[in-house]
Amino acid sequence: MTSTSPLKGAPTGVRPAVRAVPAYPFSPIQVPIKLDQNENPYDFPAELKAQALQKMLEQPWNRYPDLHADTLAAHIAEYEGWDVDGVVVTPGSNVLIKLLTELAGIEQTVLTVDPTFSVYTLEARMLGARLVQVPLNEDFSLPVDRLKIELERQRPGVLYITQPHAPTGHVDSVARVRELLDAAGEWVVVLDEAYYQYGGIDGRELVRQYPNALSLRTFSKAWGLAGLRAGYALAGADLATQLQKLVPAFNMSVLTQAALEVALKNPGYVQERVAEAVAERGRVQAALADHPTCQALPSQSNFFLLRTPDAEAMYRHLIDHGIVVRRQDHLTGLEGCLRVGIGTPAENDVLIGAVQALK
Ligand code: PMP
Repeated sequence: MTSTSPLKGAPTGVRPAVRAVPAYPFSPIQVPIKLDQNENPYDFPAELKAQALQKMLEQPWNRYPDLHADTLAAHIAEYEGWDVDGVVVTPGSNVLIKLLTELAGIEQTVLTVDPTFSVYTLEARMLGARLVQVPLNEDFSLPVDRLKIELERQRPGVLYITQPHAPTGHVDSVARVRELLDAAGEWVVVLDEAYYQYGGIDGRELVRQYPNALSLRTFSKAWGLAGLRAGYALAGADLATQLQKLVPAFNMSVLTQAALEVALKNPGYVQERVAEAVAERGRVQAALADHPTCQALPSQSNFFLLRTPDAEAMYRHLIDHGIVVRRQDHLTGLEGCLRVGIGTPAENDVLIGAVQALK
């Protein structure tokens, strides 16, 4: 067989900025208890899945879907109490991060904190934006004063703030986030609210007041629909209109849209699961509180950081017990830390037992 790879050293037309970025750092590990991706441990309820499948059967598959998932956007607008002109839907909020970086960050600045959600920095680098990261305060709160200095100093682009923060689970007060919005001038300010159901602030009030602010939300976490791939932005009409231009046409499959419409009409299950995750978070953290060497750090999300004396040893030990978590010990200020998702009560019991067994 002849090789189809380009000759060594041959020009390929790939921009150096893309080549310089490492591939998305994730390798799936097959173990029974998956606590590494901050997913919902429960699948979509079986009766709703059946309804969604029925709706999928009724769709014509030979026709393109709505240009911009318009019907789905209208359902989201109704659910969120938002004007439909301010809703932008894509296959996962990761896509929105790419598009927002393209919208406001190319040849401008992408400003965020450190540590932060890796997709902001990957997209900034790939799109050739100037990436500026300000270290979080020691208690993981937003470094508001230093961010304000950068908002003033850098060429305006996009500021990414995550509330609850990922990967720490920390939540700042509305007043502190507002301080940044007040200082943001021409910057686009993205409030990534992937985990807002689990604790903290609801950014919609802020987004209503600041035309340059936008909330990112996802069906991947509290809704338990990560496999369907859907996320959305809530913004003012002008920002949404500009962002929508960057979204490829006919971007949302009719099948995904059918399932999401069923979910949005039956959202009761979400609250029940969020309540369980929050209660379980408290239970796991309390059960680990007396550990002599590990510390479960406070979190308002569906994950928490476990600070250990040796992250590699704990990571391997958990794998041996059938549990996979996410290593974070390479990140600024997170020495020894693993990020642990909240699973089902039975999964959490296995986690507690395993952590307690390594002292
Ligand atoms: N933002 C944050 C902070 C996240 O943690 C994630 C998922 N890991 C996303 C956005 C992307 O979510 P999705 O693409 O599944 O909507």
